[in-house]
Amino acid sequence: MVKQSENIMDKIVSLAKRRGFVFQSSEIYGGLNGCWDYGPLGVELLRNVKDAWWKAMTFRDNIEGLDASILMHPRVWEASGHVENFTDPMVDCKSCKARYRVDILLDELSTKKKKETLREMFPGKFEGQQKDEIIESEFAKIANDDNALRSLLSALSCPQCGNKSTFTDARKFNLMFKTFIGPMEDSSAIVYLRPETAQGIFVNFLNVQSASRQKIPFGIAQIGKAFRNEINTKNFLFRTREFEQMEMQFFVKPETDETWFEYWREQRMQWFYDLGMRKEKLQWHKHDKLAHYARNAYDIEYQFPFGWGEIEGIHNRTNFDLSRHEEFSGKSLKYFDEEAKEKYVPFIIETSAGASRSCMAFLIEAYREEEARTADGEMETRVVLKFNPKLAPIKAAIFPLVNRDGMPEIAKKIEHDLRPSFRVFYDDSGAVGRRYRRQDEVGTPFCITVDSETLENQTVTIRERDSMEQVRVAISSLKSWLSERL
Ligand code: ATP
Repeated sequence: MVKQSENIMDKIVSLAKRRGFVFQSSEIYGGLNGCWDYGPLGVELLRNVKDAWWKAMTFRDNIEGLDASILMHPRVWEASGHVENFTDPMVDCKSCKARYRVDILLDELSTKKKKETLREMFPGKFEGQQKDEIIESEFAKIANDDNALRSLLSALSCPQCGNKSTFTDARKFNLMFKTFIGPMEDSSAIVYLRPETAQGIFVNFLNVQSASRQKIPFGIAQIGKAFRNEINTKNFLFRTREFEQMEMQFFVKPETDETWFEYWREQRMQWFYDLGMRKEKLQWHKHDKLAHYARNAYDIEYQFPFGWGEIEGIHNRTNFDLSRHEEFSGKSLKYFDEEAKEKYVPFIIETSAGASRSCMAFLIEAYREEEARTADGEMETRVVLKFNPKLAPIKAAIFPLVNRDGMPEIAKKIEHDLRPSFRVFYDDSGAVGRRYRRQDEVGTPFCITVDSETLENQTVTIRERDSMEQVRVAISSLKSWLSERL
C-alpha cells in the first residue's frame, strides 16, 4: 500500500516537472528545501484555483478584497501571539543529526511500536491485551506531559539511523522567518515575513469597513504569500517554507457566531465539491484540543496518497484577534452597530485555505491512469488529468490533421480567433493519437482537429478528454460552444 502510494506521488512529481507544472527551486544549485517554482502550466493551474476562490468569495455583496503587505509592524506578531507561541517542539538525533518535529515523530509511530515503548517505560503495566484505543490514549497523555516526554524520547530509536536514546531534549523552535528593516541589523529593526495572511486583514478591519461602508456581518478576503520555517518539509507542495494562502475573515455580531460558523463550513466544503473533488476523498476533522481563544474549529482534509491531510481550516476565533490588537495598539477596533445602537468587538469566523496545498490536492485528484484503445485498436495505458475545465491550464488544443491541403492555415486562424478568449495550444507534430495523449496528460478538456471534412463543410472535430467522444462543430460556433462548457 505504502509502496503504491509512493509510486503515485513519484509519478505525479515527475509529470509535474516534465510537463512544466512545478520545478524544484534553484534546481541548478541543488535545490532549496521547502521551496518550489511553478512552471508555465503550474502557474495557470494555481492562478485558476485562486481565481475560482476569489470569485466564490468576493463576488458577493458582503465580502471585500484586500492585499496587505507581507512585512508588517513587529508588534502585530506580539499581539497575535506568534512571537511567543508560533513554535514547534523539535529534537535532533545526536548520532545522525536528523531533525524532527516531536508531534510528527510521535504521530508516525504505529500502535504496536507505541505499545512496545509503553511496556519498556512501565515494566509490567502494559503486558495484557489492551485495546488499541487505550494504548493510543495512554501514549498521548505521556506525549503531552513535558516531564514524561524526556523519558519517552529516550525509549525511542531514530527513524533515520535506528540508534536508540540519541535524541536531544525537545526545544521550542519559532517558525517565523526574521529579517531586518533598514540598514541597521539590530533587534530594534527586526521584522518578520508573515506566517499567515490573516493579521493583515485584522489590522485593516476598520479601514475596510469604513471605506466600503459595509455593515456587520461582512467579510474580508485576501490571497497572498506566507512563510514558515518548517522543521521538516515534505510531501511535495504539502508542507513548504514559502506558500500561498487564501483566507477570508468574516466579522459577525457576538451570539451569531456559531450560525455563521456552520454556514461557512458548508460553503467551503461545497467549493471543493464544485471543483470536482470526489466526496469520499474529503472529510471533516474536528479539533478536540482548541487554541485558547477558539470556540470551534474544523479542518477539511483531503485523502492524499500518503494519508489524510488538512487543506483548509474553518475556525471560530471569537473576538480574540481584534481585542488583542486593541490592547497592543491602543486603538479602538469596536464596531458601532447602528441598528442595535451598541458598540462591540466583532467575533470572527475564519476560512483559511492553502492555495498551493489545494493546488496539489487538485492535481492528485485529477490524476488517473486508464486503459484506452489507440487509433490502431491496441490497448494502452493513458495518463489523464481530469481537471474540472475551470482549473485546466489549457482549455483547448488545436491540431491540423496533416500539415498540408490548407489545414494548417485554417487551424492557425482558429487558434488566432480563440486565443483572446481562452488559453489555447497549437500542435502540429506527430500522429493525432500522440497529440491527444500529450494533452490528456496535462488535462486539456478539448482537442479541436481540422481534417478533410473541414475543407468541405467548415466544421471541425472536437474530442472530449474524459469520454474521448468526438463531435463535429461548425468553426463559426466554436467560441460559443467552448464558452458554454468552460
Ligand atoms: P499544519 O498543521 O499542516 O502545519 P496549520 O494547522 O498550521 O497546518 P493553518 O495555520 O490553519 O495550518 O493554515 C491554513 C492553511 O494554510 C492550511 O490548511 C494549509 O492549506 C496551508 N498551509 C499551512 N502551512 C503550510 C505549509 N507549510 N505549506 C503549504 N501550505 C500550508
